[in-house]
Amino acid sequence: MRQSQLFTKTRKEAPADEVAKNARLLTRAGFIYKEMAGVYSMLPLGLRTLNRINAIVRGEMTAIGAVELLMSVMQSKELWEKTNRWDDAVVDNWFKTKLKAGGEVGLGFTQEEPMTRIVQGQVSSYVDLPRLLYHIQWKYRNEERAKSGMLRGREFLMKDLYSFARTDAEHQQLYQSVADAYERIFNRLGIGNRTFKTFASGGVFSKYSHEYQCLADVGEDTIFVHPGKKIAINREVLVPEVLADLGVERSELEEHAAIEVGNIFSLGTRFSEPLGLSYTAEDGASHPVIMGSYGFGSTRMLGVLAEVFGDEKGLVWPVAVAPFMVHLVDVSGGALEKKSFADALYTDLTQAGIEVLYDDRDARAGEKFADSDLIGIPFRIIVGKQTIPEQVEVVRRTDGGTMIFNRSQLLDQATYAA
Ligand code: ATP
Ligand code: MG
Repeated sequence: MRQSQLFTKTRKEAPADEVAKNARLLTRAGFIYKEMAGVYSMLPLGLRTLNRINAIVRGEMTAIGAVELLMSVMQSKELWEKTNRWDDAVVDNWFKTKLKAGGEVGLGFTQEEPMTRIVQGQVSSYVDLPRLLYHIQWKYRNEERAKSGMLRGREFLMKDLYSFARTDAEHQQLYQSVADAYERIFNRLGIGNRTFKTFASGGVFSKYSHEYQCLADVGEDTIFVHPGKKIAINREVLVPEVLADLGVERSELEEHAAIEVGNIFSLGTRFSEPLGLSYTAEDGASHPVIMGSYGFGSTRMLGVLAEVFGDEKGLVWPVAVAPFMVHLVDVSGGALEKKSFADALYTDLTQAGIEVLYDDRDARAGEKFADSDLIGIPFRIIVGKQTIPEQVEVVRRTDGGTMIFNRSQLLDQATYAA
C-alpha cells in the first residue's frame, strides 16, 4: 500500500483524555479511532493487525479440530431467562434495549446460551460428539471503568470457543488440547515468555479454571508466578491448599501485575441441563453434555502488544502480527532515478509476496523516519540520494540494527522471517 493512499495521518500528541500507553500510541499512529470511552473503531492499520492476530487464533483453532461459525450479537431474553442470566441483578453489565414490536433484546456479552441452543438442534447421539465450535464476535459489556484503551472496552472483539463432550474424561482431553493451543498462540504472538497459565477459581464444576496472564505493569490483576514451573496463581486463590495442590512454596513465588489475555473454563452441565442439551449413549441412556468455554481477547491483545513492545518512539510489532512486514521509505528528496528505483522496488517486493507500506509522500526525511518509528513495522528499507541498488539499507524496528542487502536478499521472504 502506498502511504499517500493510506488516509490516516500520524499525530505528534495523543489526545489529552487518553492515559493508557496502548491507546496513546495506537491513536497517534493511526490504528484506532476513539468513538467514546471504551469504544473504538479500527482504522486500516489497526484492522490489518487485528486480522493478523485473529488469523493466528484461527490457525490454532483449526489445528485442534475446532470449527468456526458466527453467532448473532442480539440476544433473546427468553433464552437467557432459562439459565437465569437475564436479570440485571445476576449479570450487571448487559446492554439491553426494547423492540418496537414489543419485547426486549440484549447485546451479547458472551454466547454460552445461544451456542448451546444451536448445538442442541444438531446433537442427539453419542456419534455427534465431541465438538469444538467457536466464533470471533464483538462483545458488549457495560463495564464500570473503561480507561485502559483497548484493554477494557465496552465493545470489544473476543474469540470464544465452546467444547461439547460425552464424559468428564473426554472433556478433560478437549480442555487440555485448548490449553496447548493457547500456549502456541501466545508463543506465536511473541509473548509466550511473559504469559503464564494461571490457576484461578473454577466455579461449581471444577476445582480450578485457568487464566492466561501476560505480565505488564499496567495489568489490573495480581498474579504469583512460579518461574521454574512456568505457572502462576491468581491472588484470589493464593491459599495454602492451592499451594499444596500445585506443589509450590509461597517463598518461591514472585508477585507481578498482569493482564488477562484469555481464560479456559469447565462448565460441566451448567448450560446443557437448563437448555436440554443431552445425547443418547450407546446403551440408550440419556446424558447431559459436558461443556467448556474458552475466551481470548482479540482487541485486548492489540492493546497488550502495544503496551509490552511499544517504546519511547512508538509501536513495535512482532513480525507475526505486523500490519506490514516492510516499510519502504523513500527519502531521496525527489531525485528522479531514485524515485523510480523506489517505485520499482515497491512493485517487486509486493510481487515477491512481501507486504509493504511504501512511504511515497512528499515529506522531510526526519518526519518520515519519526512516522515509521511510530507505526512500528518490523523492517524499514531506506532509499536515499546515495542508495546504490545493490546495497540497500534495512533497519530493524526492534533495536535499530542496520543491515545492507542486495537485490535477491531484499526480495527473499526469508530475510524478513522472525
Ligand atoms: P476481566 O477479568 O479482565 O474482566 P473476564 O473474566 O470478564 O475478564 P471473560 O468474560 O472470560 O473475561 O472474557 C474472555 C476474554 O475476553 C478475557 O480473557 C479478555 O482477554 C477479554 N475481555 C474481557 N473483558 C474485556 C473487555 N472489557 N475489553 C476487552 N477485552 C476483554
Ligand atoms: Mg470482566
